[in-house]
Amino acid sequence: MDARSGTTADVVLCNATVITMDGARPRAGLAAIRGDRILALGDRDDLGLFKGAGTRVIDCQGGTIIPGFNDAHCHPLALASNLLSLDCSPRTVSSIRDIQAQIRQRAEKTREGQWVRAAGYDEFYLHEKRPPTRWELDAASPRHPVMLVHRTGQNCVLNSLALRLTGISAKLEGSSLHLDRDRGEPDGLVSRVDEEVRSAIPSMSEEEAEEGMKLVNREYLSHGVTSLQDTSWTNGWRHWRVWRRLIERGYVSPRVSLFLGAQSLDEHREAGLSMGSGDDRLRVAGVKLALDESTGCPHPPLEDIKDLALRAHKAGFRIAFHVSDVPNLRDSLVAIQSIWRQAPRADHRFRLEHCAICPPDLWLRLKASHAVVVTQPSFLYFMGDKYQTDYLYPLASLKRRGVGLALSSDSPLVPTNPLFGIYTAVTRRTESGQRFDPGEGVSAAEALEMYTLGGAYASSEEDVKGSITPGKLADLAVLNSDPTTHAPERLLELGVALTIVGGRIAWEG
Ligand SMILES: [Zn+2]
Repeated sequence: MDARSGTTADVVLCNATVITMDGARPRAGLAAIRGDRILALGDRDDLGLFKGAGTRVIDCQGGTIIPGFNDAHCHPLALASNLLSLDCSPRTVSSIRDIQAQIRQRAEKTREGQWVRAAGYDEFYLHEKRPPTRWELDAASPRHPVMLVHRTGQNCVLNSLALRLTGISAKLEGSSLHLDRDRGEPDGLVSRVDEEVRSAIPSMSEEEAEEGMKLVNREYLSHGVTSLQDTSWTNGWRHWRVWRRLIERGYVSPRVSLFLGAQSLDEHREAGLSMGSGDDRLRVAGVKLALDESTGCPHPPLEDIKDLALRAHKAGFRIAFHVSDVPNLRDSLVAIQSIWRQAPRADHRFRLEHCAICPPDLWLRLKASHAVVVTQPSFLYFMGDKYQTDYLYPLASLKRRGVGLALSSDSPLVPTNPLFGIYTAVTRRTESGQRFDPGEGVSAAEALEMYTLGGAYASSEEDVKGSITPGKLADLAVLNSDPTTHAPERLLELGVALTIVGGRIAWEG
């Protein structure tokens, strides 16, 4: 029985197994909510202690209540755009001819001159093993500008009209514009989608953004996600205002923690955005330092990384380093060390994003940095079949050495459903069933913790989120079965029955 028993709850979730992620009481049989907070936990027969005349009692029918999932690294605004785009992912198309058919169909339904946006292609999974050319896109849609974005969002193909309208051929000199060898002219492939390319292509209108965000919202809630961490390095004042508007208009139910671009510190200061700005619905949780992405140089000089990290740190921000490969990981660790020396602070809590390849010689240094690794094992599931490298997502080894871990989707690169991450973290299987280093698998309970409490810790919000603890926000998901006792191979079959944000039912399955 809890000390707060006797206080009437607004909502009681009963007939359930509650996995709390709180060491003080790891399991319970019911959860009581008052206002937007957890009031108390109880045993299955404790209902009477919290039930008053106005209490809503929800029978979970033997389901399992967990803290809502926290997607600690994702790009929801890009996902909104993707969800509005034509789906050309490997699930839908397997050849250039399929892509053409999809685009032709969409063009027929689109007013002439309007953009046709398609997304998700991956040449590895196409029969031709190459992206389509602009001439192939022209054949499907000559009178609509077409943009086909790669699954990673990092490159795209434009048809001839799109090339002409954006004037990209003139703007991009050489390197990122791919040339057709025989014709000696651009074949439509833009190998790096940077700010220059983005600004040349008309962005979503306000209505489109709202329409897209409705889809994102449904997508996340239906998978039990109650917190998102937007880690786009381009984030700034404009994105803050977009999020504010979307939240105020009721299009976004999960809570949003925003990481601002570290390269624009002065702009953030001028806009009055600092570490912790905002409230429980939208908060600045740190900065994203991605000099490789913002400068276009895959391995920027170490001194630049150190300087920018120190400036961001001195401005009071917690820093999320973009770690796309092993040299980037080494550099980030050196930068962290140098901050420790020059400007020590009690709770640095650095983050290292991705760390997909993490060799053993760095494990102890990682531990010593006290950084949280925010990673995405679901990449192994969706793209593992084309990986041929060692030390991919060594979750068990890192966990054993006491490295803090948070799981995430990096959506829209891969689907948002946290179960893909959890399934892969446990089984180490790819979509086709291939298995990578089974010894690096963690238990379902550990994976669950990384997707809830781990995420809350990574955004420095563990005092209000991440566990079902009296006094914390009542952000919960009710699953139809207990993932910790489920057969690992069948984890993907779990379903979400209910998603609750701030004590309110936001989604019902
Ligand atoms: Zn990302």
